[in-house]
Amino acid sequence: MGSAGPQFDVWSNYLNTIDGKQVGTEKTRHGINPATGKPNPEVPVATAKDVDAAVEAGKRAFVTWSKTSWDERRKAVAGLADALEKHTNDFAKLLTQEQGKPIQFAQGEVGAGVMWLRAFNKLELQEEVIQEDDDKKIIQRYTPLGLVVGIVPWNFPIHLACGKIGPSVLTGNPIIIKPSPFTPYCDLKIVELAQQFFPPGVVQALSGGDDLGPMLTAHPGPDKISFTGSTVTGKKVMESAAKTLKRVTLELGGNDPAIVCANVDVAAAAQKVTSLAFMNSGQICLAVKRIYVHESIYEQFRDEAVKFAKSIKSGEGNEEGVFLGPVQNSMQFEKVKTFFSDIEKEKWNVAVGGKNDDSKPGYFITPTIIDKPAEDSRIVTEEPFGPIVPLLTWKDEDDVIARANNTKMGLGASVWSNDLDQAGRIARQLEAGSVWVNTHLEPDPNAPFGGHKESGIGFEWSIGGLKAFCNVQSLFLKKKV
Ligand code: NAD
Repeated sequence: MGSAGPQFDVWSNYLNTIDGKQVGTEKTRHGINPATGKPNPEVPVATAKDVDAAVEAGKRAFVTWSKTSWDERRKAVAGLADALEKHTNDFAKLLTQEQGKPIQFAQGEVGAGVMWLRAFNKLELQEEVIQEDDDKKIIQRYTPLGLVVGIVPWNFPIHLACGKIGPSVLTGNPIIIKPSPFTPYCDLKIVELAQQFFPPGVVQALSGGDDLGPMLTAHPGPDKISFTGSTVTGKKVMESAAKTLKRVTLELGGNDPAIVCANVDVAAAAQKVTSLAFMNSGQICLAVKRIYVHESIYEQFRDEAVKFAKSIKSGEGNEEGVFLGPVQNSMQFEKVKTFFSDIEKEKWNVAVGGKNDDSKPGYFITPTIIDKPAEDSRIVTEEPFGPIVPLLTWKDEDDVIARANNTKMGLGASVWSNDLDQAGRIARQLEAGSVWVNTHLEPDPNAPFGGHKESGIGFEWSIGGLKAFCNVQSLFLKKKV
């Protein structure tokens, strides 16, 4: 342990961290820079033996780490946050190289990771006296669960890994981070950096192929899976974890509606809502995915949204003024393109975009707005996870609320209105874990973050999120025998 030393280099040695050591594997693989199609450096492919070793080390670390004080854990988390902040520029560049997002957003993501770690550090789970009289005292307390596995997706590798590491270790639980095979680099390096502040086995990382997640969820050792990813995979994780009754938190997909009311400043709202649909090339669980605009302002809103979409610069993330990077990987690229094939098949009206330029290298998608597709079309009912969004119209409040809620998803939603009574009334009827008024996609480390319906089970972040890394215990203290 100690302060972040000069030997740490973001640009070399992408290795697993097991029991405090940097460990390679016989087989390696690599990610692809999605803006250029060029290979990124080699990373480990963890085997079942590596999983056993990390689980064993994590279990061993639990024995002592679970007994440390909150102050000691806070000190380690603060060290990691400071070190990550110190290396912001290098991490941001690496993130752009592996994930594709423009450098200013990559810097923002490192900043969010740091901010989240620091916010968690201000939280502490206290023992609560539930009842006390002359005869007895009942205390409710929270005890660490054990070893946690944090499974991270490829859209926000830094922010989401920090959102799992902080709460897990602060509540006394060692964690193994498993990054997405598409974006292993920053996560491997954050965990390597963490070794300067945490004892061996408390923060570990395993990079691998598609078989690694299932190996970890099926392993009898871990006590909890903190999973962020798609709904399809979330169901598999829950099924696998059920066999050993591991605790699970599932942060899954979304199909967020934005309801725009008649009284807004149309140009401002159109630009904001559309940018929140296209941010990170649409690859955000909480991106706006369906835009319901009041019919009285529909045409004007659509024209302003089109103007904004046309002004967006796409390109490699280090180029000046780029807002839209590529989508992150070939699988996602092909998936998003199926929505473009549907344009002709389904006879959707295209307000802007609609055609991709396949001549350039990289997984670039033209920002696209579909004008009033049918309510039951794929572009409305599914999560494309790319920069393509449907614009729909409404006139009756109850009807638009019913349409917004007519989905198995329930992650985020927003209402845009200058009448705060109206906004609040609509917002309170939306079935989603996070509902915003006059903004969207502004999470906070102190607010619970989770999905309703098939968008998840449980929630993370906030004081409540910390409790999900614990067992609850009722301690009954009888004052006399
Ligand atoms: P994904 O489900 O394909 O993969 C997520 C992670 O799970 C990866 O690390 C992957 O390797 C791993 N994994 C894959 N199969 C597994 C299995 N059978 N068992 C265990 N782990 C397995 O998701 P993705 O494509 O990386 O991410 C995009 C999805 O994630 C979108 O649906 C998006 O909405 C969702 N997402 C949700 C949140 C949230 O907080 N609710 C945040 C970001 C992304």
